[in-house]
Amino acid sequence: MAENELSHLPKMDALLARAELAGCGLPYPLVRRAARETLEEARRALLAGEAAQAPAAPTLAARALARARALSRPGLRRVVNATGVVLHTNLGRAPLSPRAAEAVQGAAGYASLEYDLAGGGRGSRTGRVEALLKELTGAEGAFVVNNNAAAVLLMLSVLTPGLGVAISRGELVEIGGSFRVPDIMARSGARLVEVGTTNKTRLSDYTAALDSGAAQALLKVHPSNFKVVGFTQAAELPQLGELARERCVPLLCDLGSGALAAGPFPGEPTVEEAAAWADAACFSGDKLLGGPQAGILLGKAEAIAKIRSDPLARALRLDKLSLAALEGTLMDWRDGVLPPAAAMLGADGETLRRKAEALAALLNPLCPCETIESPGEAGGGSMPGVSLPGWAVALTPAEELERFLRGWETPVIGRIHRGKLLLDVRALLPGAEAVIAAALARWKEGAP
Ligand SMILES: *Cc1c(COP(=O)(O)O)cnc(C)c1O
Repeated sequence: MAENELSHLPKMDALLARAELAGCGLPYPLVRRAARETLEEARRALLAGEAAQAPAAPTLAARALARARALSRPGLRRVVNATGVVLHTNLGRAPLSPRAAEAVQGAAGYASLEYDLAGGGRGSRTGRVEALLKELTGAEGAFVVNNNAAAVLLMLSVLTPGLGVAISRGELVEIGGSFRVPDIMARSGARLVEVGTTNKTRLSDYTAALDSGAAQALLKVHPSNFKVVGFTQAAELPQLGELARERCVPLLCDLGSGALAAGPFPGEPTVEEAAAWADAACFSGDKLLGGPQAGILLGKAEAIAKIRSDPLARALRLDKLSLAALEGTLMDWRDGVLPPAAAMLGADGETLRRKAEALAALLNPLCPCETIESPGEAGGGSMPGVSLPGWAVALTPAEELERFLRGWETPVIGRIHRGKLLLDVRALLPGAEAVIAAALARWKEGAP
């Protein structure tokens, strides 16, 4: 019977000649590959007994067309972030501001990357963002690399090779993606000198490590993705800074998320404080700063100059598109414009409730829904333990809708909670509501 049904499958040429495929306008090799894979799949299903009958030719043509369309789309696509997690690492962390996105567009062709337009000769690749960083933070020196993991490696490799570096046992963290502070220290050639305990480390613990000769440098790591609560103590940056100055040893700081004082980030250690006390401090460009992936180094002029001229700095350098986006982001901060991620993180409960109600009113005729309170978090290893007020639109049936929206032409990513699909409004960018409404209009029609 399967043998008989196999003979009912159209020939490859006949399938390709159908109007749906012949006139679809997609590149021929893609259409041919899609048609071949569609036929192979149908054949396999018949042989495995998963299908009793060969699908009709129009069905096969529709399947092949859908497959060809999917092949023609890039895999890395724009999505709607309805998870409520602003710095969602799986969804690209911080969304760029319009100004930063425009700068990327401008730099996509030829650009004055290392060209001095005033003098007509060679210019500095990172000078523009360094000037902005110094202006914004008061740091003496600034430098940028590919990401913060690279900045930590570079900072330790250049400033503390072969030295004992004292770090609190409470700060020997893993950031995710197998970035562990002890491993990166080992790679840099620095010697890890653990001080204090997991929950309590006093200034005297660092002093003792210096006095005994075990350590010749200090490192402070902001444990950005967890919080130790209860019976705790830690030496703060200013205390460590005083100690480092008194003993003439370098103080380094991995700030992680990097909160500027002008941002709505209460309780976070600030970049300005780190720049004032540390010989070198580093943080990510795409966490609380709200820019592109980058590692930003700030500190004393001498330490930063040493870092900049190291051969490893060239290996870790930032590309022109990220430099353009970073410059746009820093200009936003300078001009008092919060990048989207910072604005989203600072949004208050009342604003979000109204946003959720407006979305529910838009969606209700398409799919019955209600607004619910749904506390959120910053994500991306930022602001741990800080619960943000949040609002979402709740829809059912959760599983089916989640799959449908994820498969939409601009995929919409929500999250399922207690049998409902929640679309959280905190991280929706302008235009997201219209995308969701268009998807649900199709859902209502019952089309695939
Ligand atoms: C996020 C983070 C890193 C890694 O930064 P990337 O920019 O993702 O490379 C390193 N250290 C700390 C403390 C972090 O929070």
